[in-house]
Amino acid sequence: MNQNNFTSLRQLKKVFFDERTTRGFISFLSDRAKVIAPCKKGENSYSFEYIQNPDEVVFDYPRTIQPLKKFFLPPRETLFNFNTRENSFSEPDIESEDRIFFGVHAYELQGLLRLDHCFEEGHPEYNYLRRRENTLFIGISYTPDDWHFSRSVGIEIEKLEGFCLYFEPLDSGFLVFIVNEAGKNLVELFGKGAEIDNDENFALVEKNFRVKIKFHHNRLPQVFENVYYSKVWEEISRKCLGCGTCNLLCPTCYCFDVRDEIELDATTGKRERFWDGCMLNSFALVAGGENFRDPLSSRTRHRLHRKFKYLADSAGDLFCVGCGRCSKYCPAKINIIDIINDLIGDFAGQQKRVLI
Ligand code: SF4
Ligand code: SF4
Repeated sequence: MNQNNFTSLRQLKKVFFDERTTRGFISFLSDRAKVIAPCKKGENSYSFEYIQNPDEVVFDYPRTIQPLKKFFLPPRETLFNFNTRENSFSEPDIESEDRIFFGVHAYELQGLLRLDHCFEEGHPEYNYLRRRENTLFIGISYTPDDWHFSRSVGIEIEKLEGFCLYFEPLDSGFLVFIVNEAGKNLVELFGKGAEIDNDENFALVEKNFRVKIKFHHNRLPQVFENVYYSKVWEEISRKCLGCGTCNLLCPTCYCFDVRDEIELDATTGKRERFWDGCMLNSFALVAGGENFRDPLSSRTRHRLHRKFKYLADSAGDLFCVGCGRCSKYCPAKINIIDIINDLIGDFAGQQKRVLI
């Protein structure tokens, strides 16, 4: 934990929950709202799910397979139903229900905050924003594995932005940091847990990342501005299968396609939206069979420029949050950290040549 985060945590009020109290707290939350939390999915995999029983919740997990975006931008949804004979259409109701997301890692919520930016700017996206209403997020710390690198993109493990409460595990339970008024209300209404006056008895352990980007994150847009023609893109494309897994699991990828499904009566139908991804061959295919990004090298280049240059320029934040999903689940074992560090190597080489 770096000193700044340690200081910001120290300044917050906190209570202590042992594990039983924590599960009781999840049960208390379930009486007030729908609770979504990480659950075990397979042998070594986890998934955010609606909770029926607090015992299902896993506190210590590296990452879920899919990010939180599936709750706000579903993989497939009907935008409207139409009737061409009556020249009419009807939009399905989008429920805005009270939801509490428990056990969320900081990079995960940062991914969602970046999606907020994209769907709020320009033409606000009603369906997404409606689902974002009435949501609370409770954070939890994690231990970085071989794929996490969020500190390299400016997101500390203990980044509190967007959380109402933050759980820091101790041997015997959790220190629960009260981040805002909503969190304070929940803890007060729950009425359990011991208030902590000082944290002298609690050793908050600094956690290190095993992998990192060689340059400070502030310099990455400049690197990407200068590596458009790098040989690295071609090298990666020799291994890449173009499967799109990296897009579909990324918390900040939000591209979608829209398709009309027409019934056999040739009159009624529905317009559907579903996830798409720039690594898929069909993504830049247009009428006449022209494909603007057919080579895999240009697809990877586009994907990474979206994360580290284009959206960073317009939104002010990098659009990679360092979750490591694209590397961990890539069937060709392509690692985004290796790509970025190779590009940095190329960029540094260019700078040296300019100086000579
Ligand atoms: S997951 Fe790996 S193999 Fe699939 S498109 Fe992405 S980089 Fe290529
Ligand atoms: S690009 Fe990869 S590491 Fe970065 S946010 Fe997306 S899935 Fe995570």
